[in-house]
Amino acid sequence: MSFVTVRNLQKHYGDTAVFSDIDFTIAKGEFVTLLGPSGCGKSTLLRCIAGLTGVNAGQILLDGQDLVPLAPQKRDIGMVFQSYALFPNMTVEQNVAFGLRMHKVPGEQACERVAQVLKLVELDTFAGRYPHQMSGGQCQRVALARSLVTRPRLLLLDEPLSALDARIRKHLREQIRQIQQELGLTTIFVTHDQEEALTMSDRIFLMNKGQIVQSGDAQALYTAPVDAFAAGFIGNYNLLASEDASRLLGRPVHSRLAIRPEAIGLTPADAGEAQITGHSLLGNVIRYRVTAHGVALVVDVLNRSAADLYPDGQRVHLAIEPGELREVA
Ligand code: ADP
Ligand code: MG
Repeated sequence: MSFVTVRNLQKHYGDTAVFSDIDFTIAKGEFVTLLGPSGCGKSTLLRCIAGLTGVNAGQILLDGQDLVPLAPQKRDIGMVFQSYALFPNMTVEQNVAFGLRMHKVPGEQACERVAQVLKLVELDTFAGRYPHQMSGGQCQRVALARSLVTRPRLLLLDEPLSALDARIRKHLREQIRQIQQELGLTTIFVTHDQEEALTMSDRIFLMNKGQIVQSGDAQALYTAPVDAFAAGFIGNYNLLASEDASRLLGRPVHSRLAIRPEAIGLTPADAGEAQITGHSLLGNVIRYRVTAHGVALVVDVLNRSAADLYPDGQRVHLAIEPGELREVA
């Protein structure tokens, strides 16, 4: 049984369509990520679901109820944005309690719920602070607490981690996922970052130009891209034109070919068909640039020891598993 159902959703601004046919379902408790490049319509889709912007046609069902005619505050949806949008003149506690005041939750009960939710985001000792006395990551946790305190049926997160530095971002994405699972809260998360999408989600909807081009779990999106766009967006694939692919494999290939950089094996061989032309160290991985039969490739090799580092100019033999080749449109 699906908990969220979106059918034939259309949104345009004047003559310009942002999307003209969005269809999907989400199960109760599922964590779904909308992943796609800037401008593909992710925020607009979330805003339509939240009711912050109107739709031109289509349905949005939440637990069987059509949300489209409902005002935003009647939808029981929590939303967190990239900019935390906290009230600067209110304490953490007051910021979080604000949503409950709007819902007319009585004082004592409100206090209890605010305390509970601050504990959940590990900010219980920060209740009396003001936003300017807190870091970006802490402010974003306040924004998350504020959206959770009203016990929404659905949580929408629009690039909540994008403004934070890498270390905080990693920590917070684990924390968000943990809280989401603890509460069994159905969540739609928006990002343009493939690593965020791959690590956090039950399912990913990959979007391009107002369409969902592929949906599936992280493994499916990573290993079986449906088209050249998907291969280019997730997994750092080598994307070869059919002529290049034919030359590399020594047999006719009739479409473009996608090969993951870690699906190519390297062995040093003086008479090898390929040559190392450069490398960069990504930490646990060495990323080689290699040329074979005039085709430039990127190859990722696990950085096990200093002996794994081949010098530029080294001739190598390539081993490509046939099962790892993806022909893409
Ligand atoms: P994303 O969140 O994926 O970066 P958006 O949903 O913000 O993308 O935008 C999708 C498209 O809709 C963009 O081309 C953007 O310019 C357009 N758009 C968004 N909001 C408006 C608006 N209020 N008026 C006109 N065009 C808009
Ligand atoms: Mg956006």
